[in-house]
Amino acid sequence: MQVRPYGSGRFVLVIDRGEEVIASLTSFLEERDIRGACLSGIGAVKDIVLGYFDVEKKEYAKRTFDEVMELGNLSGLTGFADGKPVPHLHATVAGPEMISFTGHLFRAEAAVAVEIVLTDLSDEIPRVPDKDTGLKLVRLSPGAPDRSEG
Ligand code: ZN
Repeated sequence: MQVRPYGSGRFVLVIDRGEEVIASLTSFLEERDIRGACLSGIGAVKDIVLGYFDVEKKEYAKRTFDEVMELGNLSGLTGFADGKPVPHLHATVAGPEMISFTGHLFRAEAAVAVEIVLTDLSDEIPRVPDKDTGLKLVRLSPGAPDRSEG
């Protein structure tokens, strides 16, 4: 992955062919100790797993796309939980028909490159377990509704 700072906590990241998007991003966040950031990106990816969260079942329905697809949009908010960065990314991908699929991004490998602009928000975005969904949700302040376990 290529990384270059652009001042004021901004970075351009280029995830190169063959590199997995979430693993690359997580490594970057760990190395820089970035605990809260927002990002957007584009590119071309393959071996993609997208998810749709079923609120009733409290689990993700997943769909895999093996082929190379355009990454029409990658966006997300990265937080921090249990001493580790937690990227939360959603992606929109499309094949040659240019019909898109979108969902929670579980994995994707750069097929050409993935170009990302990331802004370090210079403070932690805490994520805590939510008992209703089983997900780690953003809890910005102690005054926020406490739906955590224990
Ligand atoms: Zn999500």
